[in-house]
Amino acid sequence: MDYWSALEVYKEMLLLYVEEARRYVNSQCAALEPWQIIVITLLSTFGAVWLKGFLFQQESLTSRVKKQFFKIIKKIPFVGASIQSQLNKALDDMSVSVCTLKEGMSYTKLLPAQGLAQQQLLEKIREYETLSEVNWAKGKVSGAVYWGDEKLTDLLVKVYGEFAWSNPLHPDIFPGVRKMEAEVVRISCALFNGGPDSCGTVTSGGTESILMACKAYRDMAHERGIKHPEIIAPISVHAAFDKAAHYFGMKLIHIPLDKKTMKVDVKTMKRAITKNTAMLVCSAPNFPHGIMDPIEEVAKLAVKYNIPFHVDACLGGFLIVFMEKAGYKLASFDFRVKGVTSISADTHKYGYAPKGSSVILYSDKKYRHYQYFVAPDWQGGIYASPSMAGSRPGGIIAACWATMMHMGENGYVKATKKVIETARKIKAGVRKIEGVFVFGDPEVSVVALGSHVFDIFRLSNALTSRGWNLNTLQFPSSIHICVTMLHTQHGVAEQFINDVKKEVAIIMKNPEEKTTGMGAIYGMAQSIPDRSMVTEVSQGFLDCLYSTEVPKIRNKHHKNHKNHMNGNSVVH
Ligand SMILES: *Cc1c(COP(=O)(O)O)cnc(C)c1O
Repeated sequence: MDYWSALEVYKEMLLLYVEEARRYVNSQCAALEPWQIIVITLLSTFGAVWLKGFLFQQESLTSRVKKQFFKIIKKIPFVGASIQSQLNKALDDMSVSVCTLKEGMSYTKLLPAQGLAQQQLLEKIREYETLSEVNWAKGKVSGAVYWGDEKLTDLLVKVYGEFAWSNPLHPDIFPGVRKMEAEVVRISCALFNGGPDSCGTVTSGGTESILMACKAYRDMAHERGIKHPEIIAPISVHAAFDKAAHYFGMKLIHIPLDKKTMKVDVKTMKRAITKNTAMLVCSAPNFPHGIMDPIEEVAKLAVKYNIPFHVDACLGGFLIVFMEKAGYKLASFDFRVKGVTSISADTHKYGYAPKGSSVILYSDKKYRHYQYFVAPDWQGGIYASPSMAGSRPGGIIAACWATMMHMGENGYVKATKKVIETARKIKAGVRKIEGVFVFGDPEVSVVALGSHVFDIFRLSNALTSRGWNLNTLQFPSSIHICVTMLHTQHGVAEQFINDVKKEVAIIMKNPEEKTTGMGAIYGMAQSIPDRSMVTEVSQGFLDCLYSTEVPKIRNKHHKNHKNHMNGNSVVH
């Protein structure tokens, strides 16, 4: 039988089936009156629409079912009360540990009737300074302050003074700040090897840079007819992407990591790409373990499927661009890699500028247009703004510009050399310690530690009592040190390695022992299946930050609790 006659046979069969179906439906409807057919049709159409809406929402069905399940459990009288009392206790503990004042201090809750004179005010300021017990300047804190050099501080105070009242929202009034912002962007584009069409904006920080990229790609996706745009990112990517997805009505799809290298699994990433994909993301390097994702491989996917690709270099951007000149080789990560369409990099991290500045860069102007917001019909005038904020602090932009100019390429290369040298020293040192391991092979400034033998949070407790202030990470349990210029001071790295060595030796004598204190709280927080409880406690934590009530101290041991909650006042 040849091809055509085979086709004929199939056609005949198909027609037979259609005829059969027609007869079946008609016979089913024979007993129905026309109005009944209409009502059934309407109802089943509405039903199908409702079902689709129910099944496919931004939050997945499993997540919603889980939430509902825990909601019902909490309604059971005894269980609900017990959970509530546990929550209240956790909140009490927190309010005591975070918002402590010194003996005799109180909150100011009303404006002083008479404004304070300068002398009075400066005295008052000192009181606020004495509240801090963490000595970041000696290099005991992971991340947080990336340098804070005193001479630079003096310079920046002067520069801020000159531009304290400026606002780039009014370029006609403050043309100097406009020029500075444009130059910070151009210099940054050059550092990341952007072409002549590369561009960007200065933002208030890494989070805003990331929000802006996601917003731009969401709007691009909408224009291409994608109704539910999706972000595909490694599970290790910064929580700012969760925030962006939440703010902009996008769906964030987390891709697992290769367990050994801790780099994103590119094969899984490829499988996650659909017609809804608005953007791909990699970190260079990521926050949890300081690992560089396989940017060249992911860029190939971006080119193949024609999807925008964001590289989050918020943390280490101003290290990695200087590493080659500092004598350390890295795989390509910047605009030279075909497919990379945007990069975020924080000037307020290893750019050493004061907090409140970052850059978002694009390979081409067409992307930046999707970031902009214009309200052409506003009564207040045609309103055009490049990023989230309206008015922006010109003084901070000036300080950022001044830091970059003052550092110069030689300053950055020198600083980078010191930071990387110190991080490598710490990596090599702790790798020799039996009982702990380093996650993957971190090439930049973060070194993350885990253990197969004991609960790593015991080590974090022990190091806290030795004055170290590290970051605690979850899924999997780990701790990290983010090496800054402050750790490059004489003897700091050696002391860190020695302290880890000593404390691990003590723990290894009794590896099964239970974790106590803050460490136990982190461990517990990970194991709570009802994540809404963790959210509730965290909201309580945020409330505490705005507390102006002196908490009643019930247990003495709370006095020395230091808080390490992630993503808030204490990290980065
Ligand atoms: C710090 C950081 C961010 C966010 O930056 P913020 O300045 O804290 O808003 C984003 N990504 C990574 C990898 C970071 O380390």
